[in-house]
Amino acid sequence: MRFLIHGIDRQTGQALKPIIVEESCERYALEEATQRGMLTESIEVYKPILPPSLTALPPPPVGVRFIDPATSFVTNIFFGVMLFSVGIPLLFCFWPVGAVCMLAGLIVPLYGMAVGTLRGPCPYCGHDVLVGADMSGINCPACKKRIVVRDREFVRID
Ligand SMILES: [Zn+2]
Repeated sequence: MRFLIHGIDRQTGQALKPIIVEESCERYALEEATQRGMLTESIEVYKPILPPSLTALPPPPVGVRFIDPATSFVTNIFFGVMLFSVGIPLLFCFWPVGAVCMLAGLIVPLYGMAVGTLRGPCPYCGHDVLVGADMSGINCPACKKRIVVRDREFVRID
């Protein structure tokens, strides 16, 4: 068992750096501190701070997943509200863009909820791509290459 002991120097009365003592019980730990010339002020069981576990993280998603309209409901609403609120300030400085944003904010959630969404890595560059389940294809937002959607899979055209 390890103990963390705080104390002061017996001779000078100055505060000492806390020491960690490995002993079977508290009394022995205190004796050990005394032998080291420490006047003990407090003792506690030493609990080392463990590094955060990296294994707790979920593995990265692989392959194309179909996001059911029901499960993506919150995402769709959130996305719509976000687009809509981006559109409002744009209305004042550059209204066509703002209007399109707001319109998209209204349509996208309904559309997403109606057909569901496919999400998976781009077959060319691996970028995470979202596409409406009823669409036949999409251009990857990262590498700009054409991705064809076939049987809920992303397929290359070449
Ligand atoms: Zn790509």
